[in-house]
Amino acid sequence: MAVETSAIAVQVARVRERVARAAKQAGRDPAEITLVAVSKTFPASAIREAYAAGVRHFGENRVQEWEAKRLQLNDLEATWHLVGHLQTNKARRAVRLFHTVDSLDSIRLAEKLEAALADLDAPTGAAPARMPVLLEVRLAPEETKHGVEPEALPALAEAVLRLPHLELRGLMCIPPWAENPEQVRPYFRQLRQFRDRLEQQLGHCLPELSMGMSHDFEVAITEGATQIRLGTAIFGARD
Ligand SMILES: *Cc1c(COP(=O)(O)O)cnc(C)c1O
Repeated sequence: MAVETSAIAVQVARVRERVARAAKQAGRDPAEITLVAVSKTFPASAIREAYAAGVRHFGENRVQEWEAKRLQLNDLEATWHLVGHLQTNKARRAVRLFHTVDSLDSIRLAEKLEAALADLDAPTGAAPARMPVLLEVRLAPEETKHGVEPEALPALAEAVLRLPHLELRGLMCIPPWAENPEQVRPYFRQLRQFRDRLEQQLGHCLPELSMGMSHDFEVAITEGATQIRLGTAIFGARD
């Protein structure tokens, strides 16, 4: 009896082929590139289908929406990423709902996350569990709303490194939309250069670059992306 392959499984397979091709072109190992399926607006059942197709990283951009969906997905062993702007008053809920925050953009938010994580810690005296975070950089201030300004990036990175419950892993960006994805290449390259410079300044390894979405992930891969965040390419168009 033929097993019907879900539309989402087909899309995941297509994306994996495209990732492999782009990686090969850039002389990179596709295993270095993590697919983060951005499931906002889609139901828990869609996440389950992607999980069945082998996806293990998921991104959501709203605490409220994810809170309801996660209840239905507690049996899945996946990594849940927060990829959208987080208001400081939701830090407490966010640390219970997500494994990583990929859109950290202020010292104030970092401190709120630190305090929330410290409260979750059992008083065992053991080394604290750290939450991996990425710093979202605002590369095109006139066109994007969130992210830390490049001039403020080193100070934010230094502040995060001092917080015992946060683990600084790298940088993230959302470039402005362009019809031709080649036009956003300079933004991806710039993020990588900021990362390289920051590593030298801090003397701290920052392995992750979260960049590239459905429309431009191949370009991002050739510029060094280690995490690509795909919504439409996996789940279809959002309303
Ligand atoms: C929605 C979203 C994505 C995915 O966008 P697509 O163009 O549908 O792939 C990626 N990153 C962030 C931060 C998002 O909010």
